[in-house]
Amino acid sequence: MGKQAKVAESSWDNLLRIFTVPEASGATLNRLDRDISANLAGFLQEHIVAEEHDLVRIERDFHDTRIPEAPVFVSDQTRFLLDKVVAQSVHTASPSFVGHMTSALPYFMIPLSKIMIALNQNLVKTETSKAFTPLERQVLGMLHRLIYAQSDAFYERWLHHSDERLGAFCSGGTVANITALWAARNRAFGPDGEFPGIGRSGVFAALRHHDCDGAAVLVSERGHYSLSKAADVLGIGRDQMVAVETDARNRIRPDALVATLKRLERQRIRPFALVGIAGTTETGNIDPLDCLADIAAEQGIHFHVDAAWGGPTLFSERYRPRLAGIERADSVTIDAHKQLYVPMGAGMVLFREPSALASIEHHAQYIIRQGSKDLGSTTLEGSRPGMAMLVQSALKIIGRQGYAMLIDNGIELARRFADRIAALEDFELITEPELNILTYRWAPAGVQARLHDADEAQRRWINDLLNRMTQSIQKRQRERGKSFVSRTRLTPASHDRQAITVFRVVLANPLTTDQVLRELIEEQRQIAAEHLESADFANLKALLDTHRRRM
Ligand SMILES: *Cc1c(COP(=O)(O)O)cnc(C)c1O
Repeated sequence: MGKQAKVAESSWDNLLRIFTVPEASGATLNRLDRDISANLAGFLQEHIVAEEHDLVRIERDFHDTRIPEAPVFVSDQTRFLLDKVVAQSVHTASPSFVGHMTSALPYFMIPLSKIMIALNQNLVKTETSKAFTPLERQVLGMLHRLIYAQSDAFYERWLHHSDERLGAFCSGGTVANITALWAARNRAFGPDGEFPGIGRSGVFAALRHHDCDGAAVLVSERGHYSLSKAADVLGIGRDQMVAVETDARNRIRPDALVATLKRLERQRIRPFALVGIAGTTETGNIDPLDCLADIAAEQGIHFHVDAAWGGPTLFSERYRPRLAGIERADSVTIDAHKQLYVPMGAGMVLFREPSALASIEHHAQYIIRQGSKDLGSTTLEGSRPGMAMLVQSALKIIGRQGYAMLIDNGIELARRFADRIAALEDFELITEPELNILTYRWAPAGVQARLHDADEAQRRWINDLLNRMTQSIQKRQRERGKSFVSRTRLTPASHDRQAITVFRVVLANPLTTDQVLRELIEEQRQIAAEHLESADFANLKALLDTHRRRM
């Protein structure tokens, strides 16, 4: 490579060549295709370097904003990708990468996704997707059945119905949540006499028609930030995504919810949806869904469950009861690119009633005509890829029992890890896992004892020291590149609602073992010991030393 690299020539013939299947078996593209196909995952992993470059340094490889005048050879571009992109990407499939919701994929996704890319179907309408449209509807039906378990006759009637659909397939949990609240808003402020409905007349006219000063959605303070985005784009305003207090286990407090509903009434703000969370993003907790369903029914408002993360728990006979009440939701979000183990870019929202999506239906003469089976009329996105093909493949190849094993394994691994942390002298479990997510921090027994006896100001001071330590351990561990946990800030009731920085662990990769987690803790312990020797943590060290002297 380098300065003397050959330059490709711009010509019509060369241009045509990149659109056709390479003929000669020795052609560069064929060779690349073979090399990559032989062992893509292994090949890519070998090229990821563990040592971390800071982003500013990486940015230098991406500073040129001029589009190349002359073409670059595919082989040269591939080299560039390997050296500069793959090498500095994140090894999300690693068993010790347990900090985020993005983890390993089953290997069959790689060859099968090639079929999807090669066919390049567009789900916006059947003219560009044919079998992919019924396939997508089937996937929606499978997830609908997982949640709502309607009769065979129900699915027989609605699955491929030309006017109705059981849900919407989209790029992820964010768009799924927006779609659910969009439908809820349009139904709550639907056509009424002279009033043509909020979809046509907008928010201002809708509020005037309903004689109120605002419209609101309620969710616990652990709600995902995609919900505030939804409130923003739906025009009700982020402040009207009303956060309700949670209990010691990060679950919405029904008493606080009822009080909030009363306050909104006094403020002349009309609630139109209540969101329950099945697997909070930070701590994996589940709201009391049955109780929320009762309150939503009593208020006559839409009940949405954000099960982007926790939805697949329904596969597990053992843990399914934890989501009891989800079947009473008007709509449910499930992310396929999380615990269905599908590549990024696949989410779904399912509606209990097949007619629910009619409130957001849009038509265009040239493309999505009324009464057609096209899916584009009720999706926020227009053109969409055939990701449903990969979801269907995963559902069939892994199967209900396979998913149940994955779910059970994650929850049980988290339970054992939590028990181990609780038993350790120098770590403190902050949130108990309800699913496969837990949080903890480094806090030696001596410091924990001091916290216990301290007054509020002293506690704040000690927690600040620990927060800095947690932050610096997390950062150092990430830089070392061997393992990765994320960190977040919580205000747990167990710590008087003081801000606590914690390590967050998400256990969804089936290759993560107890041993991997033991090593992860051991590494954090070493980093803590190193950091204690630095001047930055002199106060914390002094605190530990006074405790040791007292013992
Ligand atoms: C991940 C997540 C989302 C957002 O999903 P994206 O796919 O990232 O858009 C929404 N809600 C919850 C509870 C989530 O965990």
